Amino acid sequence: METKNLGFNTQLIHSGAIKDQFGSVTVPIYQTSTFKFRDADHGAACFADNDEGYIYTRINNPTLNALEESIAELENGYRGIACSSGMAAVNTIYMALLEQGSHIISTAAVYGPSRVVMENHYSRFGVEASYLDTTDIESLKSAIRPYTKMIFIESPSNPTMKITDLEAVANLAKENNIITVADNTFCSPYLQKPINLGFDVVFHSVTKFLNGHADVVGGLIVARKKSVYDKLRSMMVMLGCNMDPHQAYLVIRGLKTLSLRMDRSQDNARKIAEFLENHPKVKWVAYPGLVSHPQHELANKQMSGSGGVISFELKDGFEAGKVLMNNVKLAILAVSLGGVETLIQHPASMTHAKINRAARISSGISDGLVRLSVGIENIEDIINDLDQAMRKI
Ligand SMILES: *Cc1c(COP(=O)(O)O)cnc(C)c1O
Repeated sequence: METKNLGFNTQLIHSGAIKDQFGSVTVPIYQTSTFKFRDADHGAACFADNDEGYIYTRINNPTLNALEESIAELENGYRGIACSSGMAAVNTIYMALLEQGSHIISTAAVYGPSRVVMENHYSRFGVEASYLDTTDIESLKSAIRPYTKMIFIESPSNPTMKITDLEAVANLAKENNIITVADNTFCSPYLQKPINLGFDVVFHSVTKFLNGHADVVGGLIVARKKSVYDKLRSMMVMLGCNMDPHQAYLVIRGLKTLSLRMDRSQDNARKIAEFLENHPKVKWVAYPGLVSHPQHELANKQMSGSGGVISFELKDGFEAGKVLMNNVKLAILAVSLGGVETLIQHPASMTHAKINRAARISSGISDGLVRLSVGIENIEDIINDLDQAMRKI
């Protein structure tokens, strides 16, 4: 069924549907590495044009294709590419669209490994990078060089929750013939559609909200145009970082409830953000849905909801963070986000512990900063849990 012009919730359920000889309602797991050709001419036709039929699962597979069709429709792009992880998607994008002598501009507080792999490894192949506060469009503009090839944005950024004006970035990039890439992991297409705001490429760590059940690691890329898609697809195939059919099946299953999960998660998150904002042991709360968020207006303009992730700062710093981590009972002490269960972590003692303290603080990750990924449990239970653990500080 054609779902292109239907509503988002309908697309979540019906896009990427498969037609097989049994009339399967769900997308089957095509757990095969290779596909039989009818005859020599069919084999030749498959190799001449990938759309003719399936060849080999690293190149494509019906289960992966169903998920790719679905995400392309949800993000309003040309086509999707399913990868083994979010980082596989990042590397596919860097490898396909940058070359020796290219320059990339990116959000300073991007997901750590997206920056580390660029600074430690792509630098070895002659790619230069500038990391800056992309909320400041003027500084972004002055960082552009003649050989700037890509602007890579994560908004909201992690865990600082800063919002970059995607439409302004896309316009600036177009004037300078620069390709734009958005990490849309925090919002999902339910809350934000970077392609509609002028971006060329969107990707996700599917591990987070899209799958939503903390049981799969995966990545998805969507390109707005065929020319960019073709480069990305052939690079993914050459890197060999395809998603596995079983993994794709779980993601297809998780994706169907994206809007239901996101609605509950952000409803809970807003109430928790308000609870924390009024708590005497909390210095500040960063959540785009709060009027106190410095970019609340911009968030309202480009996002249709505020998401399920909150950062907040404990007044008593590093030790207070550890006490909170050691005393929560319902919230699970773990990294990652976007699942049905509430997760809590303390970047200064965990994800960012290896970074020099001054550098960590200057990138906005202070000693008492706590990141909360709000799940879909009963709100009173999450608040009571945080409340009892905060009393121990
Ligand atoms: C988790 C994450 C990634 C990396 O994805 P993996 O699936 O862990 O490889 C990239 N960007 C953001 C914003 C993330 O949260």
